[in-house]
Amino acid sequence: MAEKILIVEDEKELAEILGEYLKVEGYEVILAEDGREGIALLSRYRPDLVILDIMLPKMDGMEVCRKIRASHELPIIMLSAKSGEMDKVICLGIGADDYVTKPFSPLELVARVKAHLRRAVKSTKEAEKERLVLKKESYTAYADGQVLELTTKEFDMLYFLKSHENQVFSKEQLYESIWGVNEFGDISSVAVYIRRLREKLRGHSMDYIKTVWGAGYKFFTEES
Ligand code: CA
Repeated sequence: MAEKILIVEDEKELAEILGEYLKVEGYEVILAEDGREGIALLSRYRPDLVILDIMLPKMDGMEVCRKIRASHELPIIMLSAKSGEMDKVICLGIGADDYVTKPFSPLELVARVKAHLRRAVKSTKEAEKERLVLKKESYTAYADGQVLELTTKEFDMLYFLKSHENQVFSKEQLYESIWGVNEFGDISSVAVYIRRLREKLRGHSMDYIKTVWGAGYKFFTEES
């Protein structure tokens, strides 16, 4: 799905030109002509990045930036007609990620958009990875910093799956890796353990154990 860019800019011509450049790069573009519309469209379209002019009718860009930052993590690039160092400092201070002075080259702005989106995706992935921490030496699992109560075997299975992220294992392979080949037991217990682990992880909104139909299970954190 195309990444969405919200442009909040009352200079219609500039907004449209910029929009065209971004569309060529495959982005979906949403235009807002004033600050209040910008806030409204943000909640409605959930864009991946905002390009925000400072001088706007109804609500100025800095106020819009503060409001967005109070509840959203997405990158914000501010546009300013002034090249004053003070504006730049204030914008970055209230949570903008970048600051571009008019007139600017649309291609340069597009390059910055790309760079910020790449960084945002990367940091989301990294944060996601850290949400679940498994300490083998103490057999302790942490979900979002809270201890996740697991039995020894549940821990072993989760540890095994997580150490081989995105690799699919059949029930037989999981059984052998957790209980060993010489152990007598029931392969169907693997499904029971998987179910319990899933329930515990889902309690922390971590839908990390995926079923690969006809093949087995895998640990996968990227929401795609
Ligand atoms: Ca303006």
